[in-house]
Amino acid sequence: MADTTKTKFEFKAETKKLLDILVHSLYTSKDIFLRELISNASDALDKIRFESNKGAEITDKDLPLEIKIAFDDKKNLVTVTDTGIGMTRDELIANIGTIAKSGSEEFLKQLSENKEAVNNIIGRFGIGFYSVFMAAKEVVLKTKSYKKDEPAVEWRSDGLGDYEISELNEEIKRGTTIEIYLKDEAKEFAERHRLESVIKKHSNFISFPIYLENEKINTIAALWREPKSSIKKEQYDEFYKFLTYDSEEPLEIIHTSVDAPIQFNALLFIPKKSYEFWRWNRDDYGLDLYVRRVLIQHQNKDLLPEYLSFVKGVVDSEDLPLNISRETLQENIIFSKISQSITSNVLSHLTKTAKDSPERYADFWKEHGKIFKLGYMDFTNMEKYQALLRFNSSESKDEKELVSLEEYVGRMKKDQKEIYYALGAGREAIDMNPHLEIFKSKGLEVLYLYDPVDEFVMTSIRKHKDFDFKSVDAASLKDIEKLEDVVKEEKPKEKLSKEDDKAFGRLMLKMKEILGDRVTEVHESKRLKGSPATLINPDDTMSSTMQKILKMSNQGIAMPAQKRLMEINKDHKLIRNLVSVFKKNENDSFIADTTEQLYDSALLLEGSLDDPHKLVNRLNKMLEESSSWYVKVKDN
Ligand code: ADP
Ligand code: MG
Repeated sequence: MADTTKTKFEFKAETKKLLDILVHSLYTSKDIFLRELISNASDALDKIRFESNKGAEITDKDLPLEIKIAFDDKKNLVTVTDTGIGMTRDELIANIGTIAKSGSEEFLKQLSENKEAVNNIIGRFGIGFYSVFMAAKEVVLKTKSYKKDEPAVEWRSDGLGDYEISELNEEIKRGTTIEIYLKDEAKEFAERHRLESVIKKHSNFISFPIYLENEKINTIAALWREPKSSIKKEQYDEFYKFLTYDSEEPLEIIHTSVDAPIQFNALLFIPKKSYEFWRWNRDDYGLDLYVRRVLIQHQNKDLLPEYLSFVKGVVDSEDLPLNISRETLQENIIFSKISQSITSNVLSHLTKTAKDSPERYADFWKEHGKIFKLGYMDFTNMEKYQALLRFNSSESKDEKELVSLEEYVGRMKKDQKEIYYALGAGREAIDMNPHLEIFKSKGLEVLYLYDPVDEFVMTSIRKHKDFDFKSVDAASLKDIEKLEDVVKEEKPKEKLSKEDDKAFGRLMLKMKEILGDRVTEVHESKRLKGSPATLINPDDTMSSTMQKILKMSNQGIAMPAQKRLMEINKDHKLIRNLVSVFKKNENDSFIADTTEQLYDSALLLEGSLDDPHKLVNRLNKMLEESSSWYVKVKDN
């Protein structure tokens, strides 16, 4: 038996907090409440159209799908009515009485960061309905579900602490009516001109007719179906803002109309700012899919691959069946053709932008490059994808400048066979990496990667054209050494005497003995110019950065430590001093300390030193000794 009595419910704590902010909000643009209510009405109409296409049984089947807005300036009342899907009593409690906790929390957090943002963000967090309390002192919502035999229900609240639900006695048709009793300071909304301008401003693109006291006021143009030549930039911008709640214009507009072999229209946008959809709601992306102007799915996630998920917009096709279900979409061959075509359009557009306006492309890369890079699995579009990648490099004048692989290849040395890259925390850090010394002296360009994802990209795509990607710490010296030096040494290094050279050989054995299993060998270096020592990965093993990433993502699981090869620079002053010490006493503790220190320093530089304590203790000990000598020398 239906419950006809009134029932009081209390708002949940987080809803109360949210309402409190909205009710007392001093933010201007109270008018957004109307945008939110009309948007909900439009959603409800989309849903009923969808049910109807599926062939579901529907109450009041022949009602026209529309939104009506009325006002009464005597009563300070505005009414928004739709003939949409309506709500049952339970749905009312679930949808209007409760809000997703995560949504309200994230909303409040963003609000505390930027108070002006309320207008732009409220619609994104599933709490749009509550904005009505910015303007209302009381709200009465009457609704009747499309489901057969569901009674009409009424919801009533002053937005303070609780709400009341009861069964409606009057007969109403399917859909929802919202009566908004305006606060004194919001009286202005019970007036024709004000309402009309707000609706035109925010809701012009709603795809159902909106009547203001019987006069239709929106243009309901499906902009994406209009010929490109007839659309002004402002219309695109306006539509984009309507679609995304973004307050800025889009960075890129991609409007496509295709007639054969498959008919579709797509109006796509690339926002200026990344939505960071992964932050609070990973699912907040996708394109709106229409079939013959009827919205089939909001935020469809299969029309574009995930790495292009920064793209917003709508796709509309004549060739898909209207009653297609969301579940079978993916298997539909027409759908996948459309998807391929759109993907390729977006990539072509980016390619053109990169060519014609590199600065705009750089803006794009800065904002969306992080997601775009994840396209390394798109084998179909691999060529376009690679052409769109950008990096910082040793040839760049600063950390911001970007180079493409094409530019890199164009600058390659005559006999260069590989594309070199180095990963590090920043430009300075990579510049100081001892592995780069030989590349500098040979004038070889090295791509600088700052994002760990970049190395996944490199190791996954493996090569560009005929050139393999190679991390500088895994590059084979054989090929590099053959190349000519571009930086000539100022004065040739003094050669070691025969005797010292022999001692140097034995010193290396000694160092290997000290380091034990941690290294495979200690070698004389051909690549080092300014540093005393470095660690090398034996050919064809993972680069050290990759090992580090795996280690981080595998936390807790022990990774077999890769043995490294240590190289020392015979011409470095420190190594020459070591040779002298070694000749006097092969077991001098200075040799062990210095060897350990060189090893730890090399690990430290590449960011893989796990425990800095030993290094610091040793360093302090050595500084103490050397300072004592220094004092002695000064005293004499
Ligand atoms: P959102 O629209 O982002 O889901 P809202 O706070 O605007 O968040 O609305 C909450 C929910 O209330 C909607 O998802 C919908 O289920 C329901 N709702 C709101 N207005 C209507 C309406 N006019 N007709 C049917 N359902 C509605
Ligand atoms: Mg809403």
